[in-house]
Amino acid sequence: MGNKFFITIFALIFMNEYVFASSFEYGYTSSGFKYVKHQHSESSYQHAWCSANNGIEEFENADYTRVDCLTSTHAVEFDFANKWAESIGQALHYQFMTGKKAKVILILENPKSQMVYYNRVKNLSKIYNFDVEYITPKILNLKNNMCYYPDCKCKLQNK
Ligand SMILES: [Zn+2]
Repeated sequence: MGNKFFITIFALIFMNEYVFASSFEYGYTSSGFKYVKHQHSESSYQHAWCSANNGIEEFENADYTRVDCLTSTHAVEFDFANKWAESIGQALHYQFMTGKKAKVILILENPKSQMVYYNRVKNLSKIYNFDVEYITPKILNLKNNMCYYPDCKCKLQNK
């Protein structure tokens, strides 16, 4: 193994960190656990979209899993962009349980840098025949520190 091998490995590690660092903001718990910071709670996006689309939130399936939002046509799973991969599995499971078409709604708090994750899901949706859309705070009119949901983390941060 020559230097070229190590340079390639370091370049890959560095690029990976670079891509993620530009897409997400991180926080650290007191025990040093790294997590992705968000403007609003996932549930706030879910409330806003689901009520605008006349859906039922937290619809319980026969196997006790819960659909984030069940509309007349879709079983919808909401996730932040960093959870793009798991969102597909969950949405497809909800489709299987409800008989309604799977839909992933990806929350892009930083649409410019996170669109790459939406495009990954979009590409797979064409192959595996499910629906996908993205939402942003702007699309749902969720202003920072000013959304309508008292339990949202944007409210708790300023207290
Ligand atoms: Zn909020």
